[in-house]
Amino acid sequence: MKKYAVGVDIGGTNTDVGLVDTEGNIVCRGSIPTTRYTTFEPYIADLVALTLQLKAELEQSHQEEAVLTGFGIGAPNANFNTGCVVDAPNLPFKGVLDFNKEIGKHLALPVVLDNDANAAAYGEYIYGGAKGKRHFIVFTLGTGVGSGIVVDGRIVHGITGAAGELGHVTLIPKGRTCGCGRRGCLEAYASARGIVRTYLDLRRGSTQGESMLASLPDGDISCQAVGDAARLGDPLALQTWAMTAEWLGMAMANAVAFSSPEAIFLTGGPSRVGDPLMAPLRRAFESHLLFCYRSTCTISPSSLPSGDAAVLGAASLVQHGSGGGLNLRD
Ligand SMILES: [Zn+2]
Repeated sequence: MKKYAVGVDIGGTNTDVGLVDTEGNIVCRGSIPTTRYTTFEPYIADLVALTLQLKAELEQSHQEEAVLTGFGIGAPNANFNTGCVVDAPNLPFKGVLDFNKEIGKHLALPVVLDNDANAAAYGEYIYGGAKGKRHFIVFTLGTGVGSGIVVDGRIVHGITGAAGELGHVTLIPKGRTCGCGRRGCLEAYASARGIVRTYLDLRRGSTQGESMLASLPDGDISCQAVGDAARLGDPLALQTWAMTAEWLGMAMANAVAFSSPEAIFLTGGPSRVGDPLMAPLRRAFESHLLFCYRSTCTISPSSLPSGDAAVLGAASLVQHGSGGGLNLRD
């Protein structure tokens, strides 16, 4: 008999599920497309079914009983204090989503829920580059932009449980419309969709000749394609990432003024583009920092394999609780 926590990373596009052993290894994993569902109940039913399928596969391959210790869930707009997600802009289900109650209809297991970025921060702390650090911020770049803020070894939840929504700080007054309904948020510029929009805006007004993505219609341009093109030296794609770096660097420098972290980590698809983002980002960040913070805070991509930080962090919510490292409770 071996114990496993269920780590669930709920993204706007996909929901990743992993069974994680007590040493922090994701021993099996699966995924369901979040966008396939319009209502919450069938989504949870399929999430539970996938979990039980993974458990059965694991027992078969290991020839040993697998005991699930609980669900750790990282989700956009999740509230650690209430265990609910309310009106997440990037999820298809609206209203109050009570994960504990809904999963409880299928399985009698504890459910610990936190913001997906907080879960990523927890994974980075337990297994990644933030190990041993007491002051750091993790930015998650993907369908949206989130952040998990750790101050003095504590994840910041705040009075609402929703602290750390740095993706929705206003970056550009009266700027692009954001998924949250307001305008000019960082997320509208530094999310995958925001980056694609920047590229398309540049392409429409370009006088620099053709981009290698010129033959692709607007709807077929992905953030990954803009990243691949930049790595091959495409001027428009490089300019896209340079502009993203300027916006993101400014937002990160503003964030440093709140908590003076020693490190900032980036996770998520756009963060894996490498030099086209990271080189101008470090320059922009330093240039926007107040003098007393200069050269005190590093910026690095997550050291965890792609997609693992959130699943591991979510599982850690169950495995380690409040005694496993970072204090979850304020
Ligand atoms: Zn917003």
